[in-house]
Amino acid sequence: MLKSKWLLTVLILAGLVAGVIVGQMLHDPNFQITMSDSEHAHPVALGAFYFAGNTIFMGLLKMLIIPLIATSVIVGVTSVGDFRELGRIGVATLLYYIVTMAIAATIGLILVANIRPGEKITATERSVGQQTFDASEQVKKNIEAGPKGLVGAMQNLVGQIIPRNIFQAAADGKALPVIFFSILFGVVLTTMGQKGRLVAEMIGAVFDAIMKLVQLVIWLTPIGVFALLAWTVARIGLGVFASAIGAYMATVLTGLAIHGLIVLPLFCWIFARANPLKFAHQMRQALLTAVGTDSSSATLPVTIECATEMAGVSKKSAGFVLPLGSTINMDGTALYEAIAVVFLAQAYGIQLDLTTLILVAVTATLAAVGAAGIPSAGLVTMVIVVETVNGSLASMPGSPAIPIAAVGLIVGVDRILDMFRTMVNVWGDAVGAKIIDRFDRTA
Ligand code: ASP
Repeated sequence: MLKSKWLLTVLILAGLVAGVIVGQMLHDPNFQITMSDSEHAHPVALGAFYFAGNTIFMGLLKMLIIPLIATSVIVGVTSVGDFRELGRIGVATLLYYIVTMAIAATIGLILVANIRPGEKITATERSVGQQTFDASEQVKKNIEAGPKGLVGAMQNLVGQIIPRNIFQAAADGKALPVIFFSILFGVVLTTMGQKGRLVAEMIGAVFDAIMKLVQLVIWLTPIGVFALLAWTVARIGLGVFASAIGAYMATVLTGLAIHGLIVLPLFCWIFARANPLKFAHQMRQALLTAVGTDSSSATLPVTIECATEMAGVSKKSAGFVLPLGSTINMDGTALYEAIAVVFLAQAYGIQLDLTTLILVAVTATLAAVGAAGIPSAGLVTMVIVVETVNGSLASMPGSPAIPIAAVGLIVGVDRILDMFRTMVNVWGDAVGAKIIDRFDRTA
């Protein structure tokens, strides 16, 4: 068992590295890490990678998400049993999510305000950004359909929680309504005595069966992450790190590193009394899957498997913290959104005062909560933050505003940053589960 876990980790790592190398070779056959445009290059190879990575691997993971969320939340809630305890765990979990996300957004703000990557952007780059935005039909559509402003962020959140039709929500793959329904359903089961216990036991068995499927699908992770990375790097190329946008990327990556390697390990050490290195090691397959899939939701099956099987987190705590965390606890996204918005303001020569920066931190946290755990969700909800900033700027002389088309500057590199912010998102969920597990055991 232990040997096969090691083999799998080595294979996943090899898949990630090979994906980057093959992707870069497709992007530039001479393997030169310079900016080059290969938008239409190798459509057959790109198609094959998309099919293997997105259609098959992500498809299989996604197939498991909704049944896994429903059963794990019900198992979590029914094993807590008592209402008061449920409330205590719920409050502690939400508090953990909010505090860590707010810290992440603040780290992002401090970095971007000091590094000032946006000031390096030239007028030519701004107009290329505008063209990129004009050509990005999907991004434009998502932004238009998305929520607007601070009120929009709240409405977006609440509107996402209560399902009109639970089956419709499940069929649409919407996690929050399914979680909401499962919590209520689990609570009711605990009040029904023997009958309720029987149903809970049956749902526990369904959960175990789905986890068995997860263990099978996990073996496809090396090929899946290889195909996904090759697909991403072949389209974007590693040269982006050396471009003007490179400074912005470096700012985001530095922030993610501070949060992921210092802040969250400190939380793990102080509040869970666990060795963060050992815990990260136990969670390694989930963290690497997050890099490959760009999706906390698609990674959820692997996160639950690592937390319960390798790191000894109880099914109760995992069922409580991980499904909810995969859709609302996004430290990496909050940090990224704060940096991206201030970067765009800098690129357009707009100065933000302290009040507006605080507003950015608050809205970035809310927007990250509202972002779904899917690729590039953070890019879309970031527009909420841009609009809130513009609302605040409207009262200033000359009413400067960040054009929405400015998003075009960062669309091209979003997928690469998404890998790392998703990894931090999943790491934040895992640390939360470990903390709540200890909190629950010592209570
Ligand atoms: N891809 C991220 C996630 O699934 C969300 C984002 O776009 O920031 O966690």
